[in-house]
Formats: sequence, structure tokens, C-alpha cells
Amino acid sequence: QPGLYLVGTPIGNLEDISVRALRVLRGVDTVLAEDTRHSRRLLDHFGIRTPLLSCHEHNEQQRARAVVQRLQSGESMALISDAGMPAISDPGAALVAAAAAAGVPVWPVPGPCAALCGLVGSGLPTGQFLFCGFLPPKQAARRAELRRLAGQRATLLFYVPPHALLAVLSDAAEELGGARRCCVARELTKLHEEFSRTTLAEALADYGSRPEGVKGEIVLAVEGASEAAAAVAEAGAQAALGAAAGQR
Ligand code: SAM
Repeated sequence: QPGLYLVGTPIGNLEDISVRALRVLRGVDTVLAEDTRHSRRLLDHFGIRTPLLSCHEHNEQQRARAVVQRLQSGESMALISDAGMPAISDPGAALVAAAAAAGVPVWPVPGPCAALCGLVGSGLPTGQFLFCGFLPPKQAARRAELRRLAGQRATLLFYVPPHALLAVLSDAAEELGGARRCCVARELTKLHEEFSRTTLAEALADYGSRPEGVKGEIVLAVEGASEAAAAVAEAGAQAALGAAAGQR
């Protein structure tokens, strides 16, 4: 069927590609990929010869118009990212919006997503969760973002570059409290997959004392605020609002 397919690809273990993903990637006219060299290797591995076209964060908006025109003329295309589900901390949302606005059918073809794998393996509550993506790299903005999340009852999910893990754990311990339970999920679905289920303070001490440093890809899950902590955070936010209003 013509349309835009959003195809999930493995986040480490190539066996996680789905039968449907392989059929769609083989059958579409074009595969849109974040990094065409990286994706060529994936498609080669599965013996798929479909032409690739680059679609990354720097050209997504401008690509969208031409791609949507081709989709409207009846072509079928699959969007993939370097790993996991497209449009999750990856390009895709703008293209989906443009396709949907033009009346082009959009078909998700589900596959692995690091955030969900990290959540379900964390042992933390899964009833409500908030995907927060990457925190800002600069400390002041990161602290402000964590402060904004301090009263959130849902389990929080972050993507964390390995070089930023200690800084993120340290800021999270300060803003959310070191006693909050958390799980550092590293190298999911890969050979050295690791779940460290602990508290923010203990995770900081543990990873801070590893002489080899921290490597690999990381999802950090943090327990949501208790009812009492949420009330304190809410009161703090109201006081800050009041102070800001008083200054005006
Ligand atoms: N679209 C992807 C998805 O659906 O999960 C996420 C892409 S985002 C650019 C890349 C980040 O996802 C990494 O920095 C890491 O935080 C997380 N990630 C991806 N693969 C992972 C893995 N195998 N184990 C742990 N985290 C992973």
C-alpha cells in the first residue's frame, strides 16, 4: 500500500528486526534514512537493495516537501533512524506532520525503542511514565529542567550520553533527592547489557568510582515523586510564581 511507513530497527541486537519491517523495507520504493551509510549496512545484512535517501535533522524540513509530493503521486517510502523508532529523539515528526496534512497515509511499523526497553527492565512503576529525551547539555538549563520535573509523579525516562552520566546523576540527585530510586540501563539488547537498579546517590557513587569511566548507550529511569514530594514541589513552584509576580 502506498504511504509513509515509520519502521523501527534494532537498537543493538539485529534479531530484533521484525518480519514485517523486513517485508516493508524490501517492498517500498525508497527508504529514508538518517545516515545512509549506516543504514546501507543494515539493509545489506538482510539482503535488501531498496534505494536510500538521506533524511536527517538538518534537511528534514526541506526534504519534507519533495518527499510528500512523491508520496502523493503514489510512491511508498519507509523512514528509519540509526536505531530504534524513528521520531523518538530522532527525525521524523516534521515529515509525519507534513505527510498527514497532505492526506498521505502514515503507517507505523513498530520495533524496539530504547526508552521502553529501559522502562520495562527497570523494576520501577510503569503505569505512568514521562519520556524526557535528552536533558540540556549546559548545567544551568539541565538543573532548571530537572527542577521542573521534581513534582512529576510518573516514572521519568531520559536518554543520557555516556560522558554526561555523572553530571546528570549529580544534578538529578540535587534536584530530585538522592534517595529516589533509579535504574541505569546500559547497552540494551547488546552483549554487555547492564541494569543498575539503585538510588540516584548510589548510582552516582558507583559510576563515579569506575576507573574505566562510563561507556555505551544509556537510558536512565527515575522513580516519580512521592505524593508528599509532589506537594512540596508544587508549593515551591507556586512560591516562585508568586515571587516573580511580586517583582513585576
Ligand atoms: N530512536 C531511538 C529509540 O527509539 O530508542 C533513540 C535515538 S537517540 C538519538 C539515541 C539514544 O537512545 C542514545 O544516546 C541512548 O540514550 C538511547 N539508546 C539507543 N540505543 C540504546 C541501547 N541499546 N541501550 C541503551 N540506550 C540506548
